[in-house]
Amino acid sequence: MQPIIGIDLGTTNSSVGVVLHDEPRTVVNAVGNRTTPSVVSLGCDGEVLVGQSARNQAVSRPEMTVRNVKRLIGTAEYCSLGDQRYAPEEISALILEQLRSDAEAYLGTSVKECVITVPAHFSQAQRLATREAGRLAGLEVRRIINEPTAAALAYASELARQARIVVYDLGGGTFDVTCLERDGEKFAVRSTLGDGALGGVEFDRMLLEHVVKEFEQQAGTRLQEDRVVMQQLQELVERAKIELSSRVSSTVALPFFGRTGGTHLTCELTRELFEELITPMLHRSVGLTELAVAEAGFNDEHGIDYLVLAGGSTRIPLVQRYLERKLGCRPSARINPDEVVALGAALDAELVRSASERRRVQDVTGFALGVETDGDTSTILIPRNTALPARVTEVFTTVSDRQHSAQIHVLQGEERIASRNASLGRFMLAGLSEGARGEPRIEVGFELDHDGIVTVRARDLASGVEEQTTVVPMFEEASPEGRAGSTPGEDELRAAQRQVQRLISYLEGQLSKHAGALDAEFRTEIEELLQAAQHAARTLRRPARLHEYRIALETIVQELRAVDLESEVGNEGA
Ligand code: AMP
Repeated sequence: MQPIIGIDLGTTNSSVGVVLHDEPRTVVNAVGNRTTPSVVSLGCDGEVLVGQSARNQAVSRPEMTVRNVKRLIGTAEYCSLGDQRYAPEEISALILEQLRSDAEAYLGTSVKECVITVPAHFSQAQRLATREAGRLAGLEVRRIINEPTAAALAYASELARQARIVVYDLGGGTFDVTCLERDGEKFAVRSTLGDGALGGVEFDRMLLEHVVKEFEQQAGTRLQEDRVVMQQLQELVERAKIELSSRVSSTVALPFFGRTGGTHLTCELTRELFEELITPMLHRSVGLTELAVAEAGFNDEHGIDYLVLAGGSTRIPLVQRYLERKLGCRPSARINPDEVVALGAALDAELVRSASERRRVQDVTGFALGVETDGDTSTILIPRNTALPARVTEVFTTVSDRQHSAQIHVLQGEERIASRNASLGRFMLAGLSEGARGEPRIEVGFELDHDGIVTVRARDLASGVEEQTTVVPMFEEASPEGRAGSTPGEDELRAAQRQVQRLISYLEGQLSKHAGALDAEFRTEIEELLQAAQHAARTLRRPARLHEYRIALETIVQELRAVDLESEVGNEGA
């Protein structure tokens, strides 16, 4: 059975989770770590480095290194790597490829599908670009979920089934706070706020400024222009910062500095100084948290049930103390904050996997089947999404007096005008019992097996004559009208537009059908996607770009089918 992995594609670090023997675990990468720096670099021989090796080389070859690509994803900006320019999703794809290959090595099996997490405030463009990065990395992205939802999922086993959760996520590059409400298996986002320039990198920058000032005084020379020394110091300062979470002081040393290599530069950093430097930033993050709590309506007498910590910077003791004091709620840090999102993503991936298993058992048709009736109209016998296997019969009659035979024209598609649907085949039913028009009763039966093969039978109920045929529906529906007189490129574009439009109208119907069963977050996600897809179907001229929307829409269709199945399972149990 193929695993589906959960990927936390972070700004500074990424990690992968997977459920093994019913337990979520984080994948240990090729260098023995559970997180991989989201850094891509070009080595001296042109080799692409990803992760720790790329981060190591950032010190000596900063112009050949890309960091923080997540900040650019979904924008029209490019990342420069040497003299080459890459789209952000191409760089993210390299990170995802590395994560995928580490997961494959860890699991000892190939990995083709995943769930990827993104910040709750990510726009549709950012989500689509993330999905595209997954596709470029050879992964089928089954679902994009919000990072705070994943973090909350990781704690699901210890949360009450009705709970108000605040996820405080302070990572390397960004701060996000999200208020969620759990209702059974559903997590609905009630509010989300953040600051894209608040996190560990900023803390490092402040410490670095302090250390550089100190070293410049000791060395009597300016260090700022020396990129290599500055990169080296950045690494040292971050290490010292991390040490200050468990110790009260740490030393940054640059031995043998200068041309003669004679100066030993050292700077003692204390936790007290560090806390003083970061307090204004923490103040801002807690202010945003209070605002998000108020927006979610969690500031009433019920208050917050659970405060979940995510992101490496929440290991800073002052962060935890400050939060507890301000929010009056003890933060939960039982699960490693670096891994909590990946672990939750793994649990979500497992839900997707088990839903597909159930779906495999009870599959549905992806198309409608019908027959042509009088006046170029189509009568649908098997609507799209009918559970397999399916068997349907309907009785038709003749359109002329003393008609001896009837032609059964099998159609695939949902158009009311028969000729706009795809023709799957025709056969004649001869030897009809004589009668005035409208008198003979011809029973037409469709039988659709587990593999989607259709057997069509027609029987004159009076005479008992019967004919049948077997047809194989087309995987891709193609309208005959598009074929005449258009170029292959136009054909392809029209087909792509039709597919997207068909999915849009289908999803719109599903959305109103399931409106009550979907959480607000998921509903908004679908509505935003529908809007973006509508626009894309009208304006985009490249079938490949439309194809991306199609994949995104199809994924939602799959997820809605899972909702359908869940409600069926729920009904069965009732
Ligand atoms: P993330 O984006 O969640 O991977 O968080 C990465 C950030 O967390 C980096 O800025 C790290 O320096 C920081 N970090 C990781 N561990 C600690 C720690 N023990 N104390 C302080 N900061 C940490």
